[in-house]
Amino acid sequence: MVKTDVSIEKLQRVIHARRDDLIALTQDLVRIPTLNPPGDNYREICEYLDHRLQNSGFETELVRAFGAPGDSDKYPRWNIVARREGKYAGDCVHFNSHIDVVEVGNGWTTGPFGGALIDGKIYGRGTCDMKGGLATSIIAAEAFLEVCPNFAGAIEISGTADEESGGFGGVAYLAEKGFFSPERVQHVIIPEPLNKDRVCLGHRGVYWAEIETFGEIAHGSMPFLGDCAVRHMGAVVAEMEENLFPALARKRTDMPVVPDGAKQSTMNINSIHGGQAEMPTDYTGLPSPCVPDSCRMIVDRRFLIEENIDDVEAEIQDVLRKVEAERANFSYDIREMHRVLPTMTDRKAPVVQTVARAIEETLGKKPEFVVSPGTYDQKHIDRIGKLKNCIAYGPGILDLAHKPDEYIGVDDMIDSAIIMGRALIELLAKNNNKDRQ
Ligand SMILES: [Zn+2]
Repeated sequence: MVKTDVSIEKLQRVIHARRDDLIALTQDLVRIPTLNPPGDNYREICEYLDHRLQNSGFETELVRAFGAPGDSDKYPRWNIVARREGKYAGDCVHFNSHIDVVEVGNGWTTGPFGGALIDGKIYGRGTCDMKGGLATSIIAAEAFLEVCPNFAGAIEISGTADEESGGFGGVAYLAEKGFFSPERVQHVIIPEPLNKDRVCLGHRGVYWAEIETFGEIAHGSMPFLGDCAVRHMGAVVAEMEENLFPALARKRTDMPVVPDGAKQSTMNINSIHGGQAEMPTDYTGLPSPCVPDSCRMIVDRRFLIEENIDDVEAEIQDVLRKVEAERANFSYDIREMHRVLPTMTDRKAPVVQTVARAIEETLGKKPEFVVSPGTYDQKHIDRIGKLKNCIAYGPGILDLAHKPDEYIGVDDMIDSAIIMGRALIELLAKNNNKDRQ
């Protein structure tokens, strides 16, 4: 115990001493614009991480997700996996961060890829989500290696592509290749920006579908000679308003989802399009008068761990069947686009307990256990990798993700680095004697 306290004091000193390094590392990562779509500069950021982690004694592998959605010679889906073996046998702790960022959008007052440091905050697209978290985990691992060079087990750090677009060219691909499996990895921490005092156990499920209603084209001056697909879709929306949305609002979960509004089932109508395509904004002519013969709607249904995906699907089918029974000439099609099952790690799982203790000991307050309203790469680690001992934990304010003037606080990164380093000490150093071979 005494020995552990000494190493924690030293860990804190080492991390504070690396503050400038942490800032520079975050800035360097932000200055490589890895916009997704289309998936820019993945190779460049992987090479940067490769250089950094090799210098810290990691063995590295760059893995391209050949054939994954979005992968092409112009936009190759590169990933990096780095591993550092300890002196003795033991568990492997894996930090997984996505390297892609979303589009910049409007409203910035600082350069989105400048990485400006202003009043203790680093600004730029991806600072919060999640290059700051990636940099934090690297500093935590390097500091741990300095404090406990003779540790047991292994540390892995990965930088993966395409999380923002489903993770198929990133974590899903690596999981299929065996990089995430219980034989290789025992604890996973995903440094997504969930705030430094919260442990995220998992996420709700997703069901996306495209619904199409059909009609018959005719001259717009004589709509009675055709059949308007948009009006048919209007009936679908009306039925959803009348019965489906209220039913969803009544379903409550025991999952600790944040924010509160997401503790119920939700559905977003992502888009509706009927009739002829919209003209480019520089087109000055009028549209032609036609009755639309097709209308398409995309729905994004988020469901709870208490719900079953087949029921979620059936509820939407029921809406369509009800409208079909009540409405003349109603014909439709429904096509599933995407599905993700909910996932939630057990609160008693070792990585949950360890990080929770590290938060309490570092910040002097009990952590909050949360579940994310939207999904992230844990879905692939759980379903494909079969790794149940996985959380999201990292610095950064979740609400800033994807917004203009996104930033990350340097003090928050330092606190999180200490928490991650403490977790490494507990998982890989405390049991040295027990695991010694
Ligand atoms: Zn993210």
